Amino acid sequence: MELPRNPTRAVRIGSTVIGGNHPIAVQSMCATHTQDVEATVEQVNDLARAGADVVRIAVDSKRDAVALAEIRDATEANLSVDLQENYRLASVVAPHVDKIRYNPGHLYHHEKQKSWQDKVRFLVEVAAANDCAMRVGVNCGSVDPAQQEKFPEDDSISPMLASAWEHCELLDSLGYTRYCVSLKDSDPAKVIEVNKRFAAQRPDIPLHLGVTEAGLPPDGIIKTRIAFEQLISRGIGDTIRVSLTVPNPRKTEEIAAGREILEDIAEGRVRSVVDYGRDSLNIISCPSCSRVENENFVELAQQVKEMTAYAAEHAITIAVMGCRVNGPGETDDADLGLWCGPKFVNLKRGSEPLGAFLYDEILPRLREELDAMIVRRNDAGAAG
Ligand code: SF4
Repeated sequence: MELPRNPTRAVRIGSTVIGGNHPIAVQSMCATHTQDVEATVEQVNDLARAGADVVRIAVDSKRDAVALAEIRDATEANLSVDLQENYRLASVVAPHVDKIRYNPGHLYHHEKQKSWQDKVRFLVEVAAANDCAMRVGVNCGSVDPAQQEKFPEDDSISPMLASAWEHCELLDSLGYTRYCVSLKDSDPAKVIEVNKRFAAQRPDIPLHLGVTEAGLPPDGIIKTRIAFEQLISRGIGDTIRVSLTVPNPRKTEEIAAGREILEDIAEGRVRSVVDYGRDSLNIISCPSCSRVENENFVELAQQVKEMTAYAAEHAITIAVMGCRVNGPGETDDADLGLWCGPKFVNLKRGSEPLGAFLYDEILPRLREELDAMIVRRNDAGAAG
């Protein structure tokens, strides 16, 4: 079946081109520690052999940046770097990668006296000088606070769109058009809505699609598939990532899942539309990356899923996140959230912290909170 495709600009990332009617590219991200060069090179090459068109690596420090130079020398894969708060590291890493991903919501952390526009100008200069593409990566858990203030609290979509649009306008005005945009949320329904609205206004800009913290397979694949079916069947999406919580040796499953979803959509093997997770338990967990500080995180995500199975009928969202960089913010929207530090797991009810617990203490504590939440909801239902 010939799928429609939006008339997006072609953007070259190393030897791959996205947009401009090129095949939809499949990406993944390394979950090894970036400074463990041997393990990271092995994972990059595993992913590339499995069919990854681009592999992303997180860089949070100068040491990570030094490691990236060594990784570059040991692989032919197209590399993308994921920058968080420290946007200035771009100048150190750009010579070694094909694409720079920055998050507009993280640009205000460092050098607060400098405007985000100046920071983007710096990134554009660095990208252009080093033959790099860019991704403006907007994420539901870390939206620019200046945009959030402009919209009602219960509208999480409009601030994401406003942030993406203002960055696109600035990049275009600087004459830099070699970029794509991503708008990720852990709720597939929101991923569908935000990307549809973005594409309606800017059908020319290539979109990188993904459901963030989709979680463990098979649920994580199903959530992602639901979003991708709705978008790709309408011509929206030029590159994809399926984010799965899997241990390092199984990371290539992200590529296999992505390719299978694309093939199924092209063949018309799509599921009927389901309003995912509206009235049942929803466990979300991050796909893990080099920022994970305790490897027990992946096992914990699995244990949370097993332990909470008894509550399958309840519309409760539990988020399990691997690190302190994104964990505290991205658990805010869940009913119960866990984010993992090196020794402790932090438990939250909505945005309220409930304390830090040892890895072998957290499951019974989570169960207590979940039971109490079910009782409160049942009582409220009976009273209503
Ligand atoms: S929450 Fe942390 S560990 Fe998990 S993918 Fe995001 S940055 Fe990586």
